[in-house]
Amino acid sequence: MKTFVYIDHFKGEVQPASWEAIGLAKSFGTAVALVFGTGTDEVTKAAFEYGADEVIVVDDAALEDYRAEPYASTLSALASSSTPDLILFPTTARTRELAAMSAVDLSTGVLTDASKFEMNGEQLVATRPIYEGKVLEKTVCSGKPVMATIPARAFPKPERVAGKTGTLTKGEANPQGADALTTVQGYSASESAVNIGDAAVIVSGGRGVSNNPSLGLDEAATAQKGFEMLGELATLLGGAVGASRAAVDGGYITYAHQVGQTGKVVAPDLYIACGISGAIQHLVGMRNSKVIVAINKDADAPVFSQARYGVVGDLFAIVPALTEAMRKKMGK
Ligand SMILES: Cc1cc2nc3c(=O)[nH]c(=O)nc-3n(C[C@H](O)[C@H](O)[C@H](O)COP(=O)(O)OP(=O)(O)OC[C@H]3O[C@@H](n4cnc5c(N)ncnc54)[C@H](O)[C@@H]3O)c2cc1C
Repeated sequence: MKTFVYIDHFKGEVQPASWEAIGLAKSFGTAVALVFGTGTDEVTKAAFEYGADEVIVVDDAALEDYRAEPYASTLSALASSSTPDLILFPTTARTRELAAMSAVDLSTGVLTDASKFEMNGEQLVATRPIYEGKVLEKTVCSGKPVMATIPARAFPKPERVAGKTGTLTKGEANPQGADALTTVQGYSASESAVNIGDAAVIVSGGRGVSNNPSLGLDEAATAQKGFEMLGELATLLGGAVGASRAAVDGGYITYAHQVGQTGKVVAPDLYIACGISGAIQHLVGMRNSKVIVAINKDADAPVFSQARYGVVGDLFAIVPALTEAMRKKMGK
């Protein structure tokens, strides 16, 4: 099976799930990475090192900024001439748009957020969670090529092999798309630069982080100290800080950190929930984590039903002790 893998990047910063998509493509057969943009040498090199057999690079001023029209028409033209069986994308806001537009050009369909694939004869069957993960849906696409997006961390990331190379092909931007109606006028950094979706470890805090009367501070100041404490543990473990909606609504931390139904859906290797009760709207955002640790004063908190390890107690005593123990263990 020949699979195109669209490498989603912003100015050379690649969405890691692109590499996971290369690993998945290799498990089906040949992986052909598509790198669009300008100044793409580093991304191309990395695509080979993560296992692409071939990289098709379209380095063109018309593709300097991601814009749906030129990107979709370029992708559609490449897919029409090279006839892949499958086109994989890491799921992002951009790729949802790009895959959908290109699927219309190619008269095919898109299977979004597929977290598992299996073959049924010649047909690829994708499984994806729907209704906040309560139901698993199996979908097939009768068009060709099949297009699918995969969420971050649903598939293993292949090992990077330094210096690995393969076939490099130069593609052309589709001039039709170059007449795009949209133009990017500029970029500025935003709060949502925090990307908990890619973190392997998340230390997450809830309303409980604002509850430590012994500090003699008001809730907001207590929460600030509490989240600093969580941040220390997260940094030590090379991870990120997450939060419940109650913590976000309380103004203790920004929305970019929120996990759950109306926040981000995450699946890290380790999720440490501190002072979070475990409301269903929070659980749907983190229950696919590989190992869940819950720290809560209340032994009956629903979060314990999802946790591999539970600690009943005050997070203000347990988190620093855990940080200290980890520091010793890691020799830091
Ligand atoms: C439509 C809708 C969408 C929603 N979307 C989301 C979402 O995306 N994400 C989300 O998180 N929620 C979401 N919610 C809100 C959700 O229902 C809960 O209200 C919220 O998750 C509760 O946050 P919490 O667990 O931090 O707070 P609480 O439920 O108040 O729990 C605080 C916990 O901290 C413990 N605690 C207190 N002090 C300490 C301490 N010192 N040490 C240890 N433990 C302590 C308590 O025992 C308690 O279990 C949504 C709700 C609705 C209706």
